[in-house]
Amino acid sequence: MKKKLIAGNWKMNGSLAANEKLIAEILAAKPGVAADVAVCVPAPYLQQVSALLAGSSVDLGAQDVSAHEAGAYTGEASAQMLKEFAVRYAIIGHSERRQYHGETDESIAAKAQAALKAGICPIVCVGESLEEREAGHTEEVVRRQLAAVVHTNGHCISEIVVAYEPRWAIGTGKTATPEQAQEVHAALRAQLRLATAHADRIRILYGGSMNAANAAVLLAQPDIDGGLIGGAALKAVDFLKIVEAAQ
Ligand code: PEP
Repeated sequence: MKKKLIAGNWKMNGSLAANEKLIAEILAAKPGVAADVAVCVPAPYLQQVSALLAGSSVDLGAQDVSAHEAGAYTGEASAQMLKEFAVRYAIIGHSERRQYHGETDESIAAKAQAALKAGICPIVCVGESLEEREAGHTEEVVRRQLAAVVHTNGHCISEIVVAYEPRWAIGTGKTATPEQAQEVHAALRAQLRLATAHADRIRILYGGSMNAANAAVLLAQPDIDGGLIGGAALKAVDFLKIVEAAQ
């Protein structure tokens, strides 16, 4: 059976002192045995958190990656650069990047390819807005977003992680019901099955106000293979309860 993955997305939060405390509290619980655990930290803290996690069972993730290898791309970081800090995962296509940074399905697919090429596992985010859900377009939207990544050639698609994050549930305290989430996860799994014989080993995470109270019921759904955790990843006690629910 594949292990579930619980990945924290710290977003633009943290400080040298706060990171040290949070990582120490997480590592004290020795997580990462029954479930895989990762923290995706802001770029300036990759070096610090990489050192703090060295030798532990918690993996390091970035929150974005450039589609380019090197050159005149001010502000960007390449997959090779991330690799130097032992980055294992990179969140790609988060709805906040689609919304505030104009990322498109095509640019996200290029980033996923760049990550895979460097041996970094992209956590590819898909998700619909409230208007799209209310108009009955949820599946169409997430399938289009995933298709862009699945249909780029090159690296094996079975090496990605997918995160279903309904935009209306991110940072709002509104969570998809387990049934709503499972329905979308099952549709994504079916789409992956058409693309690869290894679809069952691809982890499809749920993200969107997952917390210590609702994690167990969401993680019990057959196609929910873990969580991408925003707000609740900033408090060790909450994050660890979610990790516990994934075992
Ligand atoms: C996220 O940003 O990926 C996320 C799921 O945030 P939150 O858990 O705070 O809704």
